[in-house]
Amino acid sequence: MIDKDLEEISSKELISKDDLWGYGAEHQMAHYLKRKFFDHPEIHVLNNLRFKCVTDDGDYAQIDHLIITPYCFIVVETKNWVGGMKYDEDGNCWYLSKEDDEWHTSKESPIFQAKRQSEALRRVLQNNKEILRKKFLFLQGGFQNYPVHFLVALYGESNVVKPEKSCKYDGMVLKAEVIPDKILEIYEKYKNSDTVKNFVKDALLKNDTLWILPEEDIKKTVSFLKEIHCPQFFYRKIELESVKCKCGGLLSFALNRETKKWEAICKACGLVKPFSFKCSKCKKPLKLFETGWPRKKLAFCKYCDEYRIVKE
Ligand SMILES: [Zn+2]
Ligand SMILES: [Zn+2]
Repeated sequence: MIDKDLEEISSKELISKDDLWGYGAEHQMAHYLKRKFFDHPEIHVLNNLRFKCVTDDGDYAQIDHLIITPYCFIVVETKNWVGGMKYDEDGNCWYLSKEDDEWHTSKESPIFQAKRQSEALRRVLQNNKEILRKKFLFLQGGFQNYPVHFLVALYGESNVVKPEKSCKYDGMVLKAEVIPDKILEIYEKYKNSDTVKNFVKDALLKNDTLWILPEEDIKKTVSFLKEIHCPQFFYRKIELESVKCKCGGLLSFALNRETKKWEAICKACGLVKPFSFKCSKCKKPLKLFETGWPRKKLAFCKYCDEYRIVKE
């Protein structure tokens, strides 16, 4: 069943070309997943989850598609790389550019990305195990050993190029349209193995159990994840805010090409100073970035996850 749909983009004018490109692929993947699992009683699909990591550095984890089953989680990272994708046995990835027909390294390998998101998911759930999981024979259930698989889905016309020697990532980097079948295969493998025996054995032998997630715990986990979900800024309505100079004039902002730092400029009094504004909520420094077309400047606090369009 589909427990969370991919949201619509609310601030189209703020989305970058890359994000819009990625959105198209995620939208298609969400459609494939819906078609396959909309009436499946045990396979739960949550599209687009973004949550604060357990560490306190203000970082967010973002999962394109999360599949929750009674036996495992599956994290799907979707990529829209038109020309093709290649990976090696260490998990490094390259994409084939249609422009020059050459292989380029990716900023971050989608394999590592998916792995990192899986770890962030496990950590946030494990941190809340008491509210999410039942006890069995007085033992608190948890997520420390719960299986988390990850898959990389390649959308579009492009192909996946495997390394010459077979490796552990084979079968994890796939074309988007075969991902639903792969999910079903992983799920059925668990379902058909002797889970009842493992259920008791794990509960008795391990401090943190691997036992299956009952429907009740799945429901709690799904609503917890929906509760901690903070959508990316382009899924929200972002307010305009102007910043005033001490003289009463309107401040505008520009990137100093030499120092590569943002500066505030007042046209009324001629003041130029470094951009050093603090978040009104948490008092930590705000940051600035440009996005969308025509370009707009957004001031944001990464700790509070709040964004404002700067009115200049
Ligand atoms: Zn001024
Ligand atoms: Zn803040």
